[in-house]
Amino acid sequence: MHDVEPKVFLIGETKLLPEGLNAYLEHVGAPDWSTDANTDSEALSEFMGRLCYRSFEPGLNPNVTRVRPDNKSHLQNIIRTGHGSVLEHSVLNFVFSDVSRVFTHELVRHRAGTAVSQESLRFVRLDDLGMWAPTSVKEDDEMMEVFVKTFSQLEELQRLMAEHYELDEEGKAFSKKKEITSAMRRIAPIGVATSVGWSANVRTLRHVIEARTEPSAEEEIRLVFGKVGEILMEKYQVLFGDYEVEMVNGLPWFKSEFEKI
Ligand SMILES: Cc1cc2nc3c(=O)[nH]c(=O)nc-3n(C[C@H](O)[C@H](O)[C@H](O)COP(=O)(O)OP(=O)(O)OC[C@H]3O[C@@H](n4cnc5c(N)ncnc54)[C@H](O)[C@@H]3O)c2cc1C
Repeated sequence: MHDVEPKVFLIGETKLLPEGLNAYLEHVGAPDWSTDANTDSEALSEFMGRLCYRSFEPGLNPNVTRVRPDNKSHLQNIIRTGHGSVLEHSVLNFVFSDVSRVFTHELVRHRAGTAVSQESLRFVRLDDLGMWAPTSVKEDDEMMEVFVKTFSQLEELQRLMAEHYELDEEGKAFSKKKEITSAMRRIAPIGVATSVGWSANVRTLRHVIEARTEPSAEEEIRLVFGKVGEILMEKYQVLFGDYEVEMVNGLPWFKSEFEKI
């Protein structure tokens, strides 16, 4: 067994296709529109917001005599007015690694606007259990010993079953390996470290960051979404720029006056 620390990798983001975008702008009569957005996600959200009122420039829609001059003011207005559906167009892709099944089970409760690919413990053998201990255990030597001992014993049982069923024998059918590996995971702890790929649109991300960094949420999910919040606040400064961060028990709590837009 080995100690782990939950990790967050931002691995993908939505990309604009200038050719199509420019063709549409030409079509709608706003070929000169451009944005000062720093990222494609922010540009796309602004574009979709402006599309609603044709507010690419004054007069394009006779009802619109003034338009917000830049990406920041446009998106700030969208967030302030709760026009959150505009933020659903942009999706960000993450891998959460060395996280427990405690964490992944809480994560998948968020359904709206997400996609999930979970490491299969039916296929992937648990021969070296990764363990992360919450603070209450980490700070208690006696309980830490219980944690380590239990993980070690459960890991030993994984090996015992693998040997018993001769999983590493030459020519063992893959279907049999799968069946046994699936049986073996039932006696692994739900604290076992694993990986999950998770994608979410920006509206969902805001909601989940708010809900899961809140101090009454579970420590591991607070830790992970604290990291998510930090990455996003730095990279997408307009989409996540309204958050204030308060440290509670060593972890960040992301708060905004514009909740669940
Ligand atoms: C601190 C904390 C403690 C928790 N404790 C428990 C617990 O003890 N037991 C437990 O079972 N769960 C618990 N949960 C999970 C919680 O009940 C939700 O299932 C989870 O947070 C997902 O959030 P969500 O409902 O906002 O759904 P999401 O899928 O994140 O959806 C986002 C929003 O979309 C809307 N929406 C989504 N689906 C629908 C729908 N089908 N119909 C109508 N509107 C919809 C809602 O407005 C929803 O808030 C806890 C969550 C937190 C943050």
